[in-house]
Amino acid sequence: MKLAKSLATLLTVSAVALVSSAAVFAQDKGAIGIAMPTQSSLRWISDGNELKAALEAKGYTVNLQYAEDDIPNQLAQVENMVTTGVEALVVASIDGTTLSSVLQQAADSGIKVVAYDRLIRDTGNVDYYTTFDNFQVGVLQANSILKGLGYPENPGPFNIELFGGSPDDNNAFFFYDGAMSVLQPLIDKGDLVVKSGQQGMETVGTLRWDGAVAQARMDNLLSSTYSDGSRVDAVLSPYDGLSRGIISSLRGVGYGSADQPWPIISGQDAEAPSVKAIIAGEQYSTVYKDTRELARVTADLVETVLTGGTPDGLDTTTYENGVKVVPSILLTPYEVDKTNYQELVVDSGYIKPEDLQ
Ligand code: BGC
Repeated sequence: MKLAKSLATLLTVSAVALVSSAAVFAQDKGAIGIAMPTQSSLRWISDGNELKAALEAKGYTVNLQYAEDDIPNQLAQVENMVTTGVEALVVASIDGTTLSSVLQQAADSGIKVVAYDRLIRDTGNVDYYTTFDNFQVGVLQANSILKGLGYPENPGPFNIELFGGSPDDNNAFFFYDGAMSVLQPLIDKGDLVVKSGQQGMETVGTLRWDGAVAQARMDNLLSSTYSDGSRVDAVLSPYDGLSRGIISSLRGVGYGSADQPWPIISGQDAEAPSVKAIIAGEQYSTVYKDTRELARVTADLVETVLTGGTPDGLDTTTYENGVKVVPSILLTPYEVDKTNYQELVVDSGYIKPEDLQ
């Protein structure tokens, strides 16, 4: 009896040992550093969480850091990851040109580098880029503005104002160029009128994607260009956080009432407060990019590369970073408006119904 009992104990102990050594083995694949730009936007919080979970599920330990849109802060975080030793870095950069020297150190230590969503520029030491089709994001934004205006059945002319994203984020140029590939011919035709005359990323860019900066610029546009009683019919906005600032500004001068309806305003990221604004008729549309899929695809890529494999489905022509074309995975973005938000962002589980209450 005594023997049976101790045998049972021994079996239990070795079973526990086996389980824990399996756990140790699963955790033994090394560390991955994830550098995210900011927690001020919902999308990056969800990106960070999804990516961390996906990599941990594969057996990596994860060092996830947010830099609150402060460039030296992000640099210090990445330096720390390189010094403490990681197998790979996944970086969504704030300014995609400021990381060259730390990425040289990373390369010297054999660390693989993946640019996450935002291209890292001016360095050869970025191995892969995972993102969405960013030019197409802009095309979707512009086409949705035309749909909201009822163009061409309703031929206009319409007054439109243009906003761009942060000029230190390579994506901002792709969004703007994509949108202008649709809008510029109509501006040239006179069907769309940029009444302020303000065009081009150097004029309409919004540093750090800051909603307050967009709000202040919209305030200026309204007083400089629209105080003669003319109406803003549409606003190209590349990101929901900017759209919310633009909406606040427009609300301040009376838009959103029966005799002064909202302009058609675009956005990006399908953030819950902005989907609510779409339901309320304040914002016309957004662009949904399933960041869960981006995280999963990125974790798979990291795993493939670290285990000596070659990732497939790479685009090897689109993203030239100033030094080389970075092999990229491009996922598909979708336009979301009042007619399809339920199916695309709620039924897919991207936003919980209670977050839209
Ligand atoms: C991302 C967008 C986001 C923007 C602001 C861009 O790099 O691609 O999804 O709206 O940054 O955070």
